[in-house]
Parts: sequence; C-alpha cells; structure tokens
Amino acid sequence: MNDYSIWNLEYSYVTNYHMSGIIYGAHNEGHRKLPYCYTLIKGKGKTVMVDTGYNNEGGGKEMADGFGVEGWHAPEEVLGEVGVNPDEVDTVFITHSHFDHLGNLPAFKNATFYMQERELDAWIKTMSLPDYLKWPMVAVDPDDIMRAVDLVKQGRMNLINGDLENVLPGIDLFAAIDTHTPGSMYVRVRNDGPDLNNAWIIAGDLVYTYEQFGGRPNAEGVYFPVGLATGSQQNLVDVMDVMVKQVGDDYNKIIPIHEVALKDIFPSRLTQYGLQINEICLADGETSKVK
Ligand SMILES: [Zn+2]
Repeated sequence: MNDYSIWNLEYSYVTNYHMSGIIYGAHNEGHRKLPYCYTLIKGKGKTVMVDTGYNNEGGGKEMADGFGVEGWHAPEEVLGEVGVNPDEVDTVFITHSHFDHLGNLPAFKNATFYMQERELDAWIKTMSLPDYLKWPMVAVDPDDIMRAVDLVKQGRMNLINGDLENVLPGIDLFAAIDTHTPGSMYVRVRNDGPDLNNAWIIAGDLVYTYEQFGGRPNAEGVYFPVGLATGSQQNLVDVMDVMVKQVGDDYNKIIPIHEVALKDIFPSRLTQYGLQINEICLADGETSKVK
C-alpha cells in the first residue's frame, strides 16, 4: 500500500563531471554524466517538492555556466510532464543551500518551506568572512540565501533544529550536521507507516551514487563519502550508515538524486526536453507518468 508517489525529475545536467567530485578520492577516474534533479512527492492531498533546482538567470546562470550545466528547463515544463503546476506545490523541503537545490525559491509561490536552521545561519556567517576564506561558497549563490531570509520574513520558511518526524503524515526530516554542508537535511517517506521495508529516503547530496555503498574498486563493502564536504567525510559516512538503517537495512531504498543509473533501476522515460523522469513509486490509484 502506497500513500505517496515519488518522481525524481531531471531539469538539467552536466555531461562530463569529474569522478573526484562524485566520490571522495576518485582521482584520475575520468568523468560521468551528472543529472541535476529535484523530487516530487504526491499523495494524501499534498504536493511536495524536495529542493527547487536553480533559475537560469543572474547568479544561478553564472554558477551553472561555471559548472558546465546544460539543458535547463523551467519547473513549469519539467513538472508539467507529470501533470503538476508549480503553483500547486504546497510544501518544499530544502536539503541544502547549493544553487542547484535552493536556487529557484520564487518558482513556488504558494509553498511553505522547510530547511535546517543551522544551514541558513552558517551560510550567513560564511558570507560575512573576508573573500579569501569564502571557498565553501563555491556552489552557493548569496542571492539565494537572501531569498531564503526573505521567506523567513514572510512567515513562509520553517527553520528546524535537528530531526522532525511526521512533518507531514508518514514523512520525516533528518538533519545531517557538518557533512556535505553545515546543515544538510534528508527526507524519508514511509509508505506503509511503521513498516520501514516500504520507506524511501531522498538523500539530497549526502549520496551521489550507489557505488558509495561498498561498490568501489579494491575496497569492496566499504562505504565512501561524496567528493565535497564543508563538514567532514567521516560525518558523511556516519550519516550513510544511519540512513540505511532507517529504510530497513536496504541501501537501494535511498535515492541519490544525481545518480545517472536511476533511469536503469526505476521505470523511467525521456521527456520532450530530453530529460529523465524516474518513477520511484506510485500511490494507490495514481497512474504511471512514464508509460
Ligand atoms: Zn550540494
């Protein structure tokens, strides 16, 4: 029994991203496609986004150009492929502040937002540092931070401190402090209530690829962290361990949104824009958007 549908939606991509950015220590291992995605969760009368993507103008476009991102399409087009208009989105969970996750807050005019208090605090602090200490801002657009603060002022941003179970019925938020970013967060959807064998985790950037769960050459069975941490790689691996236990000890129930192999694992299709839709699960009574 499924209360919620989950679709992972590609909205742009980097054709050749260096492997050392994907997995810690994967130097001289070439390049791989890195899809840029956000995730739609729909059910129980709720329309929920995990992250917003970025807006392809101003600071967002500058950052995207710097990372070699191509093929961007707006949320109206990407969500339209699964029959949803951005105005219908009532809730947005922000996993972290990198431009490709936080960079399109204004596209969701009717939504209430959630992010970790520490994530916003820490980036404001980093913005106050002299330029030579600002390396962590490599993928953060200060204008996105200011737009998040403006949502606080409007009363539309919930800043949470740590874990928050049942933020919506059967949906939990978990903090991952000092990992990929200072206050990263991930989302668990429990489709059968307490039965964690039918639960899913939307991992944000805490996991980039299933290979991190023990699939590295010459290190079989050993967990590896993602290639970018403003916190610590050890904290990242610790969080991976916690995540697996939170979905019935099965890492296949963790969705790494940048994983190019999702299209081979889940029912998927290419849209008219050449972007992937991965159908992770369907709510009871919902029709497939990939058939
Ligand atoms: Zn990130």
